[in-house]
Amino acid sequence: CGIVGYIGKKNASPILIDGLKRLEYRGYDSAGIALLNGTLHIHKKKGKVADLEQILPEFSDSLTIGIGHTRWATHGEPNDVNAHPHTNEAGDIAVIHNGIIENYGAIRAELQRKGHKFKGDTDTEVLAHLIDEIWNEADCDFETAIRLALKEVDGTYGLCAITSREPDKIVTARNGSPLIIGVGEDEFLIGSDASPIVSHTRKVIYLNDGEMAILTRDSYTIKTIENVTMPKAIDELTFGI
Ligand code: GLU
Repeated sequence: CGIVGYIGKKNASPILIDGLKRLEYRGYDSAGIALLNGTLHIHKKKGKVADLEQILPEFSDSLTIGIGHTRWATHGEPNDVNAHPHTNEAGDIAVIHNGIIENYGAIRAELQRKGHKFKGDTDTEVLAHLIDEIWNEADCDFETAIRLALKEVDGTYGLCAITSREPDKIVTARNGSPLIIGVGEDEFLIGSDASPIVSHTRKVIYLNDGEMAILTRDSYTIKTIENVTMPKAIDELTFGI
C-alpha cells in the first residue's frame, strides 16, 4: 500500500518512520522496515506505525539505507509474518511491494519444488525467493537478478529491494503501482506518492510502468525491465503537501 525508501548519509530509521506516518492516510493493516549496514535488520508488525515504533531498537547512525512499507493485505491474512519486508531464506534480500503478483502460485510451487521454504502466505514473498533463485543461478548483479525475476512476473508492482550482498544500493521498479524518486544532496528518497518525499526535496524523478531505478548515494540509473537505459530528467515537484 505505502512505500518509502532512503539511501544517503543520515540515520535512515527516523526518515522511514516519518515517511510511513505520512502514508498512513492511505489505510493499511501492518507496517515494517528493513535497514542495511552490512547485515539486514528487519522489523515488522501487524497494526499501526506507532506499534512498529514500540518494537524498534535504538538504531545506530551507521544504518543509512532502508525501505519501509505499510501493507494493505491482498494475499495472506494481516499478521506479523505476512507484513513486509519479505526475505529470501538466507535473510540477505529484503523486498517491499505494492500491488498483486497474479502468477505467484505457480512461481511459489516451482520454487518449492526446488527446495525453497516459505514463511508466510503473501504473493510478495515469492519475489524475494525468485530473485534469490535467479541470482544464485546467474553470475550477475542484484539489479539484473531483479530485472530477470520481474520478467517472469505477471501482475502489478511498485517494489523496493535491498541486499547485504551489495550493500550500497536500493533497486526499485514499477509496473502499475506508482513510484516517485526524490533527489537530494548525496541522498535519494523513494515514495509510492510524494508525501514521504516533500519535506526532504522537491526534485523528483517519476518512474514509468516497466521501468526500474538503481540508486546509490550519489548516482542513479534508470532502465526498462527489458534492459534499455532511459535518460530521465529531474522534475520539480509542483503539487503535494
Ligand atoms: N499483495 C501484497 C500483499 O498482500 C501487497 C499488498 C499492498 O499493496 O499493500 O502483501
